[in-house]
Amino acid sequence: MAAKTCTNGTRPGPRPEYIPDHIPDPSYLRILDTTLRDGEQSPGAAMTATQKLHLARQLAKLGVDVIDAGFPSASQEDFNAVKMIAQDVGNKCDADGYVPVINALCRCNERDIATAWEAVKYAKRPRLLPFIATSPIHMEHKLGKSKEEVLQIARDMVKFARSLCCDIQFGAEDAARSDREFLYQILEEVIKAGATTVGIGDTVGMAMPFEYGKLIADIKANTPGIENAIISVHCHNDLGHATANTIEAARVGGARQLEVTINGIGERAGNASLEEVVMALKCRGAHVLGGLYTGINTRHILKTSKMVEEYSAMYLQPHKAIVGANAFVHESGIHQAGMLKHRATYEIMSPEDIGLESSNGVNIVLGKLSGRQAMKNRFKELGYELKDDEVESVFQSFKAMAEKKKRVTDDDLKALVLGEVSHEKPIWKLGDLVVTCGTKGFSTATIKLVSIDGSTHIACSVGAGPVDSAYKAINLIVKEIVKLLEYSLITVTKGSDAVVTTRVVIQRENNMVSNPILNGNNINPTFSGIGEGVDVIVSSVEAYLTALNKMLRFME
Ligand code: MN
Repeated sequence: MAAKTCTNGTRPGPRPEYIPDHIPDPSYLRILDTTLRDGEQSPGAAMTATQKLHLARQLAKLGVDVIDAGFPSASQEDFNAVKMIAQDVGNKCDADGYVPVINALCRCNERDIATAWEAVKYAKRPRLLPFIATSPIHMEHKLGKSKEEVLQIARDMVKFARSLCCDIQFGAEDAARSDREFLYQILEEVIKAGATTVGIGDTVGMAMPFEYGKLIADIKANTPGIENAIISVHCHNDLGHATANTIEAARVGGARQLEVTINGIGERAGNASLEEVVMALKCRGAHVLGGLYTGINTRHILKTSKMVEEYSAMYLQPHKAIVGANAFVHESGIHQAGMLKHRATYEIMSPEDIGLESSNGVNIVLGKLSGRQAMKNRFKELGYELKDDEVESVFQSFKAMAEKKKRVTDDDLKALVLGEVSHEKPIWKLGDLVVTCGTKGFSTATIKLVSIDGSTHIACSVGAGPVDSAYKAINLIVKEIVKLLEYSLITVTKGSDAVVTTRVVIQRENNMVSNPILNGNNINPTFSGIGEGVDVIVSSVEAYLTALNKMLRFME
């Protein structure tokens, strides 16, 4: 069927009223976000309590139905974070009555459950999630308990939890490897004991989509009393199936709560990712998934993703679905030409749907496969009308740059056009440079700059490294307060004598100006520069001077 672009961020109807064991609209899927709990279990992804609070606030903006805030028994820090989230985010109702459920994880023992309750009870909608493993391998080797013992513990602990809280999710850990009949039996018992949601975990991420869909459908068909609880699914990505398994569980199995994490972070290979599951439902829900939908405001996805990337320091691969840096970037000439004519030629959703705003509505990064037309259009959008005779010469420089530097950004284009079209003399250019650096813990740079009037100026400075000390010495001469926003290095050839391309982006302090391209809105403009050469330090200084010259020229 023809690909359709997603519609704007609206959902088919208002969010159904929250009742723990029942969803008034059968097509509505609850989203439980477990970034703060399972996500944080990613190796190296620990977040501070304050970061967790900030992220929980963002998850509420995103509109998740349930925030799995943590495991209060794990540590005092976890307890405090859950309590803080329950008190803060768990009490902020918006105009249409939405407030996220705040969930706390606990093992099936009274002490864990009571501790979890102490942390989460401040929320308007608290939930407890006692869990226990139900697979033979876990029961025998991890718990050292028989089926009968596990059944008894689950029943008693759900009953105890329910005496504290009216919203209880029971978690069947490793359910995907559990004996079917035993699973039906234990779920029946916990629902009788007061569980309002039952979680079916593919804890080790081994299920195939058809298998997992069937498991959930079987549970729905064979568990007495299942109509009195919501089925929740929790998928791990060990075989790369977490998103597919989650969708399939909703589509054929009748699962109505989906457990996901931002950017798919989580134990081992991670969990089903919120952005993938939600955008799959948004793009295809109405057409091929029987109208299933979520209450997520997708326009907050990118911001949330960036926040998680920063807090967890789990960097995204560029080609990550939905939120990767390349997810909406079109590079080949054929794709770009198509995109400029009609966006739906190569985009099934628009960048704005996830909160990625681009000036021209088409997010194109130019590269060596880009044609003259794409380059000319981009310049036009940036405010430069190239004359026909200029197009050819700029295009040649552009191609040369694209050969060396895979992706040519807007700042690079501006640098090109300044060089090609204006042929302006630099206000400051490099005369000479001497740096010392090494293991002694300090670096010095002495620099000679030549001014546009021909006069020479010398300064020296110490710094954290050779580049830092050189930049500081330049600042002493130029006498501007400059903020370095970006500094990056790439090499395009191999070997220790490789040509290095340095790129810097700078900004002048307190330099708000009205920008006609942005409808007269005030911005603080940024200026970039590129330097190239086999000497890393000289290349860095050239890049900085190029950016500085642009800034000074702009100020005139
Ligand atoms: Mn998990």
